[in-house]
Amino acid sequence: MQTNPFSFCPSCKSDAFTLSDNRYHCDHCNFTFFLNAATAAAGIIIHDGQLLFTVRAKNPAKGKLGLPGGFVDMNESLEQAIQRETEEELGITITQWQYLMSSPNIYDYANVRYHTCDAFFVTHLPNKPVFSLQEAEIAGVTWLKPEQINLNDIAFDSMRQAVKKLLAK
Ligand SMILES: [Zn+2]
Repeated sequence: MQTNPFSFCPSCKSDAFTLSDNRYHCDHCNFTFFLNAATAAAGIIIHDGQLLFTVRAKNPAKGKLGLPGGFVDMNESLEQAIQRETEEELGITITQWQYLMSSPNIYDYANVRYHTCDAFFVTHLPNKPVFSLQEAEIAGVTWLKPEQINLNDIAFDSMRQAVKKLLAK
């Protein structure tokens, strides 16, 4: 896994371009690039005492349980991101979300390690929705009662923390 994906300074092409803490710095031309956590939003959908999980169609964590959500686009809020991702992945529009918590996470994708900060939201649906799944991302969905949830089946540590917190309520 490449934790330091940039070998050369994008400004002067020098290889004296190194990462320390949250910044790359070029010792040749002094160019500095800050690397911060990527923001992501995910949603826990509850209906009739059951939580909705997605089954991830691709890596990382292909086949594991996930939650609808994804990276926040530039110029987008957390609220817009969770609504957009839910529409894209599940084909339903949910506008009422309650903030639950956030947690750092590591997301390895295409040989690059991304450090993320995942924000979790919760919604309660009175009616069971009919989904139109985004097949490239979602292999299926499953509704689980709290006692049916095995935290080890969940794809990411941040998601496990959020589900654990919700169930403890
Ligand atoms: Zn440089």
